[in-house]
Amino acid sequence: MTTASRSTPTRGAAEPAPAPRATARSAARLAKRVAEGEPALGRARRVGRMLRTLAATHPDAHCELDFTTPLELAVATVLSAQSTDKMVNSVTPALFRRYPTALDYAQADRAELEEMIHSTGFFRNKASSLIGLGAAVVEKHGGELPRTLEELVALPGIGRKTANVILGNAFGVPGITVDTHFGRLVRRWGWTEEEDPVKVEHAIGALVPKRDWTMVSHYVIFHGRRVCHARKPACGACSLSADCPTFGAGPTDPMKAAALVKGPSRAHLLEIVGIPDDDAPAPVGREDADAP
Ligand code: SF4
Repeated sequence: MTTASRSTPTRGAAEPAPAPRATARSAARLAKRVAEGEPALGRARRVGRMLRTLAATHPDAHCELDFTTPLELAVATVLSAQSTDKMVNSVTPALFRRYPTALDYAQADRAELEEMIHSTGFFRNKASSLIGLGAAVVEKHGGELPRTLEELVALPGIGRKTANVILGNAFGVPGITVDTHFGRLVRRWGWTEEEDPVKVEHAIGALVPKRDWTMVSHYVIFHGRRVCHARKPACGACSLSADCPTFGAGPTDPMKAAALVKGPSRAHLLEIVGIPDDDAPAPVGREDADAP
């Protein structure tokens, strides 16, 4: 293992320069500016830079629930409450084969449905939601999932967060998905001070171009899972550090921070901040151990 001060190899002309890194002094200045009420234009520019950096950092960001139709995504999203995407993806192939239409959920045998979704947790409530969802989609929408926020949130088991997931990922209608992780991260980054999820959604919607609403949700969640962990963020190996008012919440030493970077794109995440993967210590724990 090498130390943080070792020089990085000479880069080829085609390779992008590493993301700029914060220093203790620059981070303190930014934290003070944000705490004192950052001017709107300055915040918008900083968020724009962070958005571009997130896009370069997580080109693989996407909805991690497996689906092929809007109804399948609605079902998967209902099942994802208090569960993991991985767990949901392990039960949905058989579920989607057994219940291909809304009518199939409406007419489902409750005991059989509960058994199929048991491992995702809260299976009784979720079975009720899926049966009710199927019935409502058949009765009110002719068996097709509606494509407006208002109609979606009126369906059993579909809240505003789920509706935005469906709109953004199944219908291509821009939507910002705010859950507790998203809210925590955007407050940590000084994008908003709002706590209420709907107010967070509106605040971020005013800062981010509409065409980016769906992707910003994925970028933020990917960065939280892989770099900006709740308890120990990898600040010293973070591409956002120059624009983050919370730089220093986790280790700022690049090698110590590199050990906290997780996920299948770890080599890319380190490269983008100028840390050769060969030199970096092994990651600590699973990708979702501190998610996000
Ligand atoms: S890892 Fe640290 S520097 Fe990066 S976004 Fe999170 S708190 Fe900010």
